[in-house]
Amino acid sequence: MSRRACDTLIRADRIVTQNDERTIIEDGGIAIAAGRIAAVGPWMEIDAAWQGETVMNLGRSMVLPGLVNAHTHASMTLMRGLADDLPLMEWITQHIFPVEQKLTPELVRLGATLACCEMARTGTTAFYDMYLMEQAVAEAADATGMRAVVGEVIFSFPTPAYANLDAACDVVRAMHDTYRNNDRIRTAVMPHAVYTTTPELLTRTAKLAEELDIPLHIHLAETTTETAQCMEKFGKRPVAYLDSLGLLSPRTLAAHCVDLTDDEIRRLAETGTRVAHNPESNMKLASGIARVRDMADAGVVLGLGTDGACSNNNLDMFAEMSTCALLQKVATMDPTVAPAQQVLDMATRGGAACLNWPGIGSIEPGNLADITALDLDQPGLMPMYNPASHAVYAASGGDVRMTMVGGEVVYRDGAFPKVDYPALLAEVRSAAAWVRKQFEGNGK
Ligand SMILES: [Zn+2]
Repeated sequence: MSRRACDTLIRADRIVTQNDERTIIEDGGIAIAAGRIAAVGPWMEIDAAWQGETVMNLGRSMVLPGLVNAHTHASMTLMRGLADDLPLMEWITQHIFPVEQKLTPELVRLGATLACCEMARTGTTAFYDMYLMEQAVAEAADATGMRAVVGEVIFSFPTPAYANLDAACDVVRAMHDTYRNNDRIRTAVMPHAVYTTTPELLTRTAKLAEELDIPLHIHLAETTTETAQCMEKFGKRPVAYLDSLGLLSPRTLAAHCVDLTDDEIRRLAETGTRVAHNPESNMKLASGIARVRDMADAGVVLGLGTDGACSNNNLDMFAEMSTCALLQKVATMDPTVAPAQQVLDMATRGGAACLNWPGIGSIEPGNLADITALDLDQPGLMPMYNPASHAVYAASGGDVRMTMVGGEVVYRDGAFPKVDYPALLAEVRSAAAWVRKQFEGNGK
């Protein structure tokens, strides 16, 4: 029997499929054709059935579905480490917003390109991004080969990208038009949070998401301060307030969801609202601890995100997984909470659900070929008994040796095939001088 042709054959020591049965294949193979997974199974079977134009033998590697960063602000890499050790409201209003008001599309693109490199380097293949001048983030994701759901952040005050709500909606429509036929870039509607918007703005954005049939993403219930402000201004807690405006639905991804009551958790589950959990950001800003066990038990669809590089300060989803698991255990004083498999699910399959993007998050025939590989010869990954345990507790992004998106390699063994990395570093260094100046000009 002649072998069927495909673009790439991958061979690796372990393949962690993250399919419904959580199948793990030893000495496994993956056949990739036209950016999708054509077949996955034992290498002997794959090799007998498929003829790859390229054969990528990853040897003693553990192949995983590419990780999904369900909430970030990629361009904030440019401000990494500039304003640490502050509470959220002071940090965002006195330090971050003033610098952001002076950003240019070129700087946003540069920060996002750096972020895409960092994510590819650390095993992430898809991310959900909210920022200003987001068109530039979309361009960076497109150029670096990453998969992204992108959205212009919408505030009730003007930004460098728009003067008012009508103009903000036009920006979203234009981005949606630009990327509607793009395989890797999708658009979402992104009102920032309840404390930076008005009821009218939230209603309009929900209508826009429905009209364009695209997802909606918002920061929600991040701190008790947000809850207090929401109660004072609108007479409702944040979840009830969004509910009353019709914003809770499977279309909506809410980031953080730290300050929640039992009823609110039930309501998020009932409405199918997805939640992106950001443990490192919540810890660094001392926002609190999200009730991951209670949300999971109630049936809330959960993903994992890094948030921006200012409140983390990296975009490494392996580190985020570890933090997520450890934080839940100490918060509940129960070591069985947030087991490795559940946390790995959040960073893969859960992330796919958060992005509303079927076809990512697991290695299965028909799915997109978004894949990453950990080097099992690293001393910190020896020996290997349990792949999920290694992915969550032992691995760091630095152990990644290959990342591919839609069958295309975006990182391999120190190289970024789609990026002039030395030139990028030089540009980031010179931009950092500008950022520092703005920051100091801000009197801080
Ligand atoms: Zn955020």
